[in-house]
Amino acid sequence: MQLYKNQHIKVYNSLTGKKEPFETITEGNVGMYVCGPTVYSNVHLGNVRTFMSFDMVFRYLKHLGYKVRYVRNITDAGHLENDADAGEDKITKKARLEEIEPMEIVQRYTVDFHNVLNQFNFLPPSIEPTATGHIIEQIELISTIIDNGFGYEVNGSVYFDVHKYNETNNYGILSKRKLEDLIHNTRALDGQSDKKNPQDFALWKKAEPTHIMRWPSPWSDGFPGWHLECTAMSTKYLGEQFDIHGGGMDLKFPHHECEIAQNQAAKGKSPVNYWMHANMLELNGSRMSKSTGNYINPAELLSGKNDILSKAYNPNVVRFFMMQSAYRSVLDLTDNGLLASEKGFNRLMNAVDDLDNLKTLNASSFDVKAWKQTCYDAMNDDFNTPILIANLFEAVNHINAVKEGSKTISSEDLEVFKSALHTFVFELLGLNNAKDSAEGTEKLSGAVELLIKLRQEARANKDFALSDQIRDELAEVGITLNDSREGTTFSTN
Ligand code: AMP
Ligand code: ZN
Repeated sequence: MQLYKNQHIKVYNSLTGKKEPFETITEGNVGMYVCGPTVYSNVHLGNVRTFMSFDMVFRYLKHLGYKVRYVRNITDAGHLENDADAGEDKITKKARLEEIEPMEIVQRYTVDFHNVLNQFNFLPPSIEPTATGHIIEQIELISTIIDNGFGYEVNGSVYFDVHKYNETNNYGILSKRKLEDLIHNTRALDGQSDKKNPQDFALWKKAEPTHIMRWPSPWSDGFPGWHLECTAMSTKYLGEQFDIHGGGMDLKFPHHECEIAQNQAAKGKSPVNYWMHANMLELNGSRMSKSTGNYINPAELLSGKNDILSKAYNPNVVRFFMMQSAYRSVLDLTDNGLLASEKGFNRLMNAVDDLDNLKTLNASSFDVKAWKQTCYDAMNDDFNTPILIANLFEAVNHINAVKEGSKTISSEDLEVFKSALHTFVFELLGLNNAKDSAEGTEKLSGAVELLIKLRQEARANKDFALSDQIRDELAEVGITLNDSREGTTFSTN
């Protein structure tokens, strides 16, 4: 029998502001959509935190036996500066500054995104669609929204009529905003805009002659509005109504609010049953963000090359640090916090290793099955990973007590204990035993040292072509050789 029949999850639903029993639309299946990155720059650790929260949710749902279709998109067009309806496309701007094609920017930062997620041991989503791959679907959606009376065209651009929509629907249902307050708080249009009202948002924008990323449409050569892609891609792969939609807290308004409005206007349905929002990673007491410059990149954390860090951190320690806080809580990134997580992580891994050498007796002096259920209870309570980790440290105490002889465990219970710990630590929290990666590092060092030796021999034989080849090809795979009087060392980046 599938675990989800016994383990009943409650999910905090941003739409209702309550923790609700999780019931899927189709028994045994979950459709989950998460807004992916806009690939115009390297992801920062804040982005990583949000994606990691949903990686953990994905892992747990799969573990419970659900068949999960997890869709996480790549935004490669349509996202304008300041998340606005006018201004330059973020990707085009970067391409202009670097004098390369926008699609080169997209490719570079998509690769970077995947590399980062691999370093942190993410599971790949089931589908990773791109905005530019779904222009036809977006144009179709706009046509339907216009036909249904909720969109209007002006000078080749199409806007969503928020006021008209709000007459029969509730614009603000997710973000708990009221249209009257929005009207009160926005500046009047300056006459430059084609919009009827400042609250309206773009579904299609006519491209300026210099705008490179453009597609033909019934209205103009242009590009889709940012909110539209997620409506098009989520409903294409998950249906007009699906189970979970996730993203960072900052996307609730306007992005997710507009997604609801678009779907409601096009299909007459609210698209999502459970809206889940992950909270922000902070640095120096305020939100990590690319635009304010208050951020750390994953590479800095893994190399220790940042002034706030006393050392380099293993990606597993970073993952453990993030999992020690609930996904709905704000988390502040500090060196002390990371050091504490490193200690805790090592303690946990040592205990997991010790499991293989525990002596068993006929009876256990603690209830392993009850402990296991407390771990499930934590995860069932809106994916409460900090409580799960507190329970894992209970297990560490048990393991140490059995080692010291003050507690006992039967061989049958030891098997349950081992398998549960492996499940929670590796499968659900997504950690790897860092000792394994330390072993990998050791092997790499051995291989590079050998190449350094061969290069020295080549130099001694005046075979500079070979010595340069060794240096250059190592550089290509990210290993830099540093020559000095004392000899040659290497660094990885
Ligand atoms: P973007 O590429 O800017 O669209 O962001 C990708 C994802 O990262 C979105 O779900 C954002 O909500 C999320 N995000 C951005 N900044 C932070 C932060 N400081 N902490 C957590 N998540 C963030
Ligand atoms: Zn989105």
